[in-house]
Amino acid sequence: MTVQVLAADFASATTSTASMPAPVFAEIAFAGRSNVGKSTLLGALSERKSLARVSKDPGRTRSLVFFDVRARRVADGPKTADTPPPEELRLAFVDLPGYGYAKISKSEAASWKPLIEGYLRTRVTLRMVLVLIDIRRGPQEEERDLLEFLKQPADASRTQPVVAKVVATKLDKLSRHERKPALKKLRDEIGLPVFGVSGESGEGLGELWNAIVASVL
Ligand code: GDP
Repeated sequence: MTVQVLAADFASATTSTASMPAPVFAEIAFAGRSNVGKSTLLGALSERKSLARVSKDPGRTRSLVFFDVRARRVADGPKTADTPPPEELRLAFVDLPGYGYAKISKSEAASWKPLIEGYLRTRVTLRMVLVLIDIRRGPQEEERDLLEFLKQPADASRTQPVVAKVVATKLDKLSRHERKPALKKLRDEIGLPVFGVSGESGEGLGELWNAIVASVL
């Protein structure tokens, strides 16, 4: 299956879980420290480079930013009478506030943690959380904390499971022969599946899209 993006647009941004948009479409949340390559990945996955800039707006760096995405799944290979028609999907990408700013104050840190954790714990439409880690840096305390948090049993209000996956970013920064061992090391350290991607070269984006689609169907 190949995923084609039909549209991806900024929908809203909020700094409070009380004023999130109504939960309608399945959501994929993107978490990661500042500079990990989150906006670049969002832009590359949605084939809208401009999306990367939306979350960078100074007013939005501490917000949950919601994007509406429309895509379709197209069967690979030549079209035959048995080829299913393309299936259209509606979903939301949610850019969580970047953490790990070197200059973040204690009080700022104290405000984004409840926002991220409140969203992750209560959002009924949330299907998948992608935790981004720079392949060259490995997991740091914040990523480990977040992954531990995601292991907690689901809220009783949830009817669908939330899948957590790690996305190793900037794969192109490693040489070809360094990539496989680096991905294996990360997987062993974390004990979760790891997708290796490059928002710059596009490597790994097809596999990531397939995992996203599998989580929303
Ligand atoms: P964010 O702060 O997590 O949103 O990170 P950005 O997407 O803004 O990326 C931070 C820096 O890393 C920028 O200079 C990007 O050009 C660079 N970058 C992001 N993704 C990649 C990638 O896949 N490969 C390479 N080589 N550089 C990347």
